[in-house]
Amino acid sequence: MTDLLHAFVLPELGVRGAAVRLGAGYREVLSHQPYPAAVGRWLGEALSAAALLQTGIKFTGRLSLQLQGGSALELLYVESTSEGDLRGIARVAERPVDWNIGFGQAVEGALLAITLEPYQRGDRYQGIVPLAGDSLSDALEGYFAQSEQLPTRLLLAGDGEHAAGLLLQRLPFEGGQNRPIDPDGWNRVEHLMGTITPDELLGTTSELLVHRLFHEFDRINRDPLPLHVRCRCSRDKVADVLRRIGRDEAVAAAANIGHAEVICEFCGKVYRFDPIEIQQLFLPVPVAPLPPRPQ
Ligand SMILES: [Zn+2]
Repeated sequence: MTDLLHAFVLPELGVRGAAVRLGAGYREVLSHQPYPAAVGRWLGEALSAAALLQTGIKFTGRLSLQLQGGSALELLYVESTSEGDLRGIARVAERPVDWNIGFGQAVEGALLAITLEPYQRGDRYQGIVPLAGDSLSDALEGYFAQSEQLPTRLLLAGDGEHAAGLLLQRLPFEGGQNRPIDPDGWNRVEHLMGTITPDELLGTTSELLVHRLFHEFDRINRDPLPLHVRCRCSRDKVADVLRRIGRDEAVAAAANIGHAEVICEFCGKVYRFDPIEIQQLFLPVPVAPLPPRPQ
């Protein structure tokens, strides 16, 4: 089974965790653009990370992870929602790049941002740090070390077919409350995590992986969450983009091929607007609907 997110708590060790393995959804994201193999691997790691980090959030909403401004990898953007929707995109430098350089060099100069957006009223939260480390998991662990102070470990992998990840985080405890039974719990899970190779992570279902690692401990499992790659684009949103561009630009865009064409970068869906539809976009919008005519 793939495209499932397993979250769990190991109460006696004072640790929470999550495991994910993506198959079809990951391949769908890769199918939208011809990514270099290395970028495809990093995109898989990022999608896994976004799903895993979602498990730590107490509200329903959206989490995004954005890495922007790298010398070779200019943008890596992934999103996950509490319902299990995922989407992601990468953008690379236009100049020729030797992708053997490795992650650390490809993202040199980039910033890493994690944004949490609750659906209900509430504050949007964003944390931004300079990116450091030779892998995305290093970079994210660094982010947690700087911002959240809860020790967090991540293992991530992607190979173009599957993407997978494992997250472990020490649970907070104050003044002796919720203190784990095993004071050495964090060290023990870190040690267990260190025994997993990327191939094992990619080749094992997340359920089996969690069982293999932690079967000797009490474990509280959350129901597995099915993950779907689902885009939030719509004709209405594209129409808003055209309105922002302005009438002259939109009309000019349609002049060449008879219609304006907007392609969603995330899912590859094509939206077409013919000249009449473009004119309609710029008609004044009535402020309120007319009251019903008295009979
Ligand atoms: Zn889309």
